[in-house]
Amino acid sequence: MQKEYDVVIAGGGLAGLTLSIQLKQANPNISILILESRDKAAAIAAHKVGESTVELATHYFREVLGLKNYLEEFELPKHGLRFFFTDEKKTELSNRVELGPRLKLPVPSHQLDRGTFENYLEKYTKELGTDFLLAARAKDVVFGENGDMHEVIYAHEREDKKIKTKWLVDATSRISLLKKKLGFQKEAPHNVNAAWFRVKGVVDIDEWSDNKEWRTFLAPKLRYLSTVHLIDKGYWLWIIPLGSKNTSIGIVADEDIHPFETINTYEKAVAWIHKHEPQAAKFVCPNKEDILDFRILKHFAHDSKRVYSSDRWAVTGEAGLFLDPFYSPGSDFISLNNTWLSDLILRDYKGEDITVRAQIYEQTHLSWFKDWLPIYQDKYKLMGNTQIMVFKIFWDWAIYWSVPCLLFTNHGFTDLKVLKELFVSEKSLGRKFGKLNKAVQDLFIDWLPHEKAIFENRYIDPLDLNYLKSFQRGIDEMHGDTIVSKVAENMVVLEKVAAELFRLISHQVNNTPLDIIVDPYLITLKTPYNASEHVNGLFVDEAIKTDVAKMWFYPNSVLA
Ligand SMILES: Cc1cc2nc3c(=O)[nH]c(=O)nc-3n(C[C@H](O)[C@H](O)[C@H](O)COP(=O)(O)OP(=O)(O)OC[C@H]3O[C@@H](n4cnc5c(N)ncnc54)[C@H](O)[C@@H]3O)c2cc1C
Repeated sequence: MQKEYDVVIAGGGLAGLTLSIQLKQANPNISILILESRDKAAAIAAHKVGESTVELATHYFREVLGLKNYLEEFELPKHGLRFFFTDEKKTELSNRVELGPRLKLPVPSHQLDRGTFENYLEKYTKELGTDFLLAARAKDVVFGENGDMHEVIYAHEREDKKIKTKWLVDATSRISLLKKKLGFQKEAPHNVNAAWFRVKGVVDIDEWSDNKEWRTFLAPKLRYLSTVHLIDKGYWLWIIPLGSKNTSIGIVADEDIHPFETINTYEKAVAWIHKHEPQAAKFVCPNKEDILDFRILKHFAHDSKRVYSSDRWAVTGEAGLFLDPFYSPGSDFISLNNTWLSDLILRDYKGEDITVRAQIYEQTHLSWFKDWLPIYQDKYKLMGNTQIMVFKIFWDWAIYWSVPCLLFTNHGFTDLKVLKELFVSEKSLGRKFGKLNKAVQDLFIDWLPHEKAIFENRYIDPLDLNYLKSFQRGIDEMHGDTIVSKVAENMVVLEKVAAELFRLISHQVNNTPLDIIVDPYLITLKTPYNASEHVNGLFVDEAIKTDVAKMWFYPNSVLA
């Protein structure tokens, strides 16, 4: 160990380890110490949640950190997110509406065994020259003044020790060392809880049904490799396969609909699964002796008032902000967080003044969280409603693939010119993106009292919709200086989709014609549709109309 470091990272979990790798790869001369309170190697299977990755984080792990070979050899490939909606009885999976990709996906993603993964990341970052200290619990910091080094106090081998560092990064997750010390905690208005456990062995949902047609509709093992969501009002139950050939099971539920007290012990969680997912209960609830672990987390969403400081401290991972795991975005936030943070540290190391950048990155990070909140807030009450959820899931994927994923792969989030163009004025694209998303999310809530149908026996594949397929495939296309134009192009498609969703919903609820002119920023069911308010709106776009019709479960004659 050295006497002082360029960077001390408190917490050697996913966020801290990947940050150290990103920094070392960019500049091997940067000295880094990770303090990790765990005293031995991470447990296989029963370590942490955060097992399913989606496109943005997959790009970060595979391409930015160069972990492609490791992931392909030691972790499972993932066959997308897969949703089974309620058919009331929930005793025959093949009867339930299923949403997910049917054929092998062009853009990869992975199911992570967090124990195996973190042990590998630890080994790799040490090979790159990072010092990694186990059984070292960061306790406090004395901040250096006027650019002096900070002094970090940590407990190790029953003694309090001190280490000097230019940068202190808090990656202690919910321990949130810096948030507590500096008082920048902030509640997130989204009250959802979780309980999860790992079971020994493989759970292959294809085996849940004798229906041959259903079983062979997808190639063998593709359903198994998906992150499976069984959903109904107020909750979703996850089933995630792990490379260790064990299975992760989790309940995520809205406090107002399924209170925490109904899932917060293994016995209660099992009883809850028997009641709400009776078929699943037969396959995912072994005797207590056969489970590998059981964990709970109450009100897991949390916001933060600060993230990056030019006084050389920062937070990353769950020590900062966390929203909701429904679309597995936890590692996406880590990828963005670490990309902003490593850029600041590397520039500072070269002697650049990072004051303005730190402010811009922090504002963008915090406003991104704010724009993403309406995707989840109050939305668990929609989960028992198949038609609304199909619209919503496809909308949420469309916005995710078309803007943040694209900006991330194209390095847009660290390009000040791009950020300025996207976010500075009220009318800029990034601000419009937030407003458009809010309008559509509110529309789903408005729709709820009017849409109650239970559907059965259907399969819907996101990649049957051309605009969604094109957004997903476009993630890895590089646009150089024209990235903002590409975002603008995608926004036009999103606006047309929003308008078309509204046409269908408004037709069903208020019997408005299917060819009304629609301003996508004014879509609401709270007031009657009034064409004069939509004078600058959009007319029907036939290609989008055809795509959107594929997610409409009512008879097609309505659309004729
Ligand atoms: C229910 C649920 C499901 C989720 N599912 C997904 C998913 O499918 N996909 C996804 O991408 N994300 C998911 N997430 C989010 C994911 O779990 C987190 O984003 C990720 O684990 C956070 O990583 P981290 O490094 O911040 O924290 P951790 O990985 O927990 O690392 C923090 C580390 O800090 C150490 N530590 C704590 N205190 C100290 C201290 N004082 N000093 C030194 N070390 C310390 C701990 O031992 C730990 O190793 C989920 C989250 C929840 C709540």
